[in-house]
Amino acid sequence: MNYPIKIDPPDIERYRRGNSGVDFVHVLDSGKPGPSVMIQALTHGNEFCGAIALDVLFKQNIFPSKGKLTLAFANVAAFARFDRDDPDRARYIDEDYNRVWGDDVLLGTRDSAELRRARELRPFVDAADLLLDLHSMHEPCRPIMVCARSEKSVALARRMGAPADLLLDTGHPAGLRMMERGAFADPASPRAAVLIECGQHWAKSSVDVAIDTCNRFLNTVGVLDRPSQQFPKIEQRVIRVTEPVVAKTPGFRFASPWKGLEVVKEAGSLVATDDGKEWRTPYDHCIMVMPSMRHLKPGTTMVRLGRYD
Ligand SMILES: [Zn+2]
Repeated sequence: MNYPIKIDPPDIERYRRGNSGVDFVHVLDSGKPGPSVMIQALTHGNEFCGAIALDVLFKQNIFPSKGKLTLAFANVAAFARFDRDDPDRARYIDEDYNRVWGDDVLLGTRDSAELRRARELRPFVDAADLLLDLHSMHEPCRPIMVCARSEKSVALARRMGAPADLLLDTGHPAGLRMMERGAFADPASPRAAVLIECGQHWAKSSVDVAIDTCNRFLNTVGVLDRPSQQFPKIEQRVIRVTEPVVAKTPGFRFASPWKGLEVVKEAGSLVATDDGKEWRTPYDHCIMVMPSMRHLKPGTTMVRLGRYD
């Protein structure tokens, strides 16, 4: 299913020359002690609601009154080839930028467009105490705050007060995400990362969610010299992913056109078929987490199964 593109890719060329020595990375330094905070957009080049949100922050001339604030556009090369007639082509050039963050890959000898960019960004990521990574989804689905396997990310998301659905997952077999890198995944470290899935890639509501999430994040981490804003808190629930559904063959098909966050009442309900194999819900009230047929190939996670805490 193709969804309409209701938002325009922002002109980010004006942000190419930052002050950090790396293109499209801006480090706003108060010169005073405080946390090092980072917001990243365009981890996936086809997910530009977050880039629009950063554009808004730049235009507001925000500046930290303590600590440092790093604003980064990540996979700009992939974003640059965005084409309304083939929008998914802008997702990445060679490989998924958000699967290369393990030291074995990042510090290894393998080369790709995404690895080169990740190696440029690594010093900023490794210096960040608190990280917000802005994403969107192929299917129209309520926003989800991805917290990896980290309870401290859940705690950060609760301080932000939105969105309603917080996700503890099991990672991706294909590789480590930025938010799982190093101390972000160490329960003993205070460093924490969250990843927001704002909604459908090109829905206007996803831009609103991205902007709201940035504001809530900045409010929570407290680096800006502006009156602390009051954001309405909504009831938040944690979804624990118990297992991924990974395609084994190109014949993988969902049993229903899942969009995400559906709750399947009964255990044993058919989720998908895959060349004769059946996937069924392992328990009652099973939640479909971020289903997508978009990137079907053997070894790809097609949907994750979870339940509310
Ligand atoms: Zn993404």
